[in-house]
Amino acid sequence: MTRERLTVVVAAFNEADALPALHPRIAAVLDALVAEGVDGHVLYVDDGSRDRTWAVLDDLAAADPRVSLLRLSRNFGKEAALTAGLDRVEAGAALILDADGQDPPELIPAFVAKWRQGYDDVHGTRTARDGEGWFKRATAHAFYRVMQRLSKTPIPTDTGDFRLLSPRALAALRQLRERHRFMKGLFGWVGFEQVAIPYHREARLAGRSKFNAWRLWNFALEGVTSFSTAPLRVATYLGVMTALLAFVYALWIVVKALFWGDPVAGWPTMMTVILLLGGVQLMALGMIGEYLGRLYEESKQRPLYLVDRWRPAAGVSLADL
Ligand code: UDP
Ligand code: MG
Repeated sequence: MTRERLTVVVAAFNEADALPALHPRIAAVLDALVAEGVDGHVLYVDDGSRDRTWAVLDDLAAADPRVSLLRLSRNFGKEAALTAGLDRVEAGAALILDADGQDPPELIPAFVAKWRQGYDDVHGTRTARDGEGWFKRATAHAFYRVMQRLSKTPIPTDTGDFRLLSPRALAALRQLRERHRFMKGLFGWVGFEQVAIPYHREARLAGRSKFNAWRLWNFALEGVTSFSTAPLRVATYLGVMTALLAFVYALWIVVKALFWGDPVAGWPTMMTVILLLGGVQLMALGMIGEYLGRLYEESKQRPLYLVDRWRPAAGVSLADL
């Protein structure tokens, strides 16, 4: 049997409490996969944690020759951390997993089985979410549906970053170097054969979610502006609609003045129209600004992340080099 290489990529930001519980689970799964000819590795990316995460990871790496570590120079955000991790996967397939245990590692064999059947992008789709309030669930639900409407790129609903990428899907993803990285959309853009594995999203092992309501709102904005130009068109349609209404209203004013005279009046209408138009114009400007800002960031051509430390697996064999 040919041995296939699989690297589990885990982005971790302040996950010192969750990692010691998570790693044995991953290790057990990788041990079991050896019999199936899978050469498993783990790559932890410390996204500039401010707690003991790096020390915890260092211990894990010292005890397990399959573990490589990468530390970014500061907190760059999950999307950049994942990009950094995927960039360091030397060969074979990559599987992305959350550090908090919300994506159960025990499902990895199911992902590998689908990969072996020839799928390039195997992603977990949540059937249930534990430990998340109704507000997060409702907004997440709405977000995925709105995104699907707005974007031309197919983005599977209720799908996070828990997924396996075949070597060619991984290579394709690595070519996308945009600064505003809405990963769900990037995966969809890559295409190839995709398949969903339904799973039950568990509650966090420890700690709290790093995504509060404000961060999620910004994340949603990121998704919409990175994968759709529909908001820019909203301004056009609003403009056309307002102009049409204004035209009808103007006709009505002329007719009214001709037939019934024109006693001076109209302060309320005037105020209403001025405020409404002012509001609509500012909104349209804001939308243009969102895109312009992204264009500006893109034009600076900064690297997506900076590496502080790189600790390759102790067990790197000569054949791997
Ligand atoms: N994460 C990260 N950098 C960040 C925020 C989060 O690497 O700036 C990691 C975090 O450690 C976890 C994953 O991204 O492994 C998902 O984060 P979290 O559990 O807070 O998000 P949620 O599951 O609530 O969407
Ligand atoms: Mg989580």
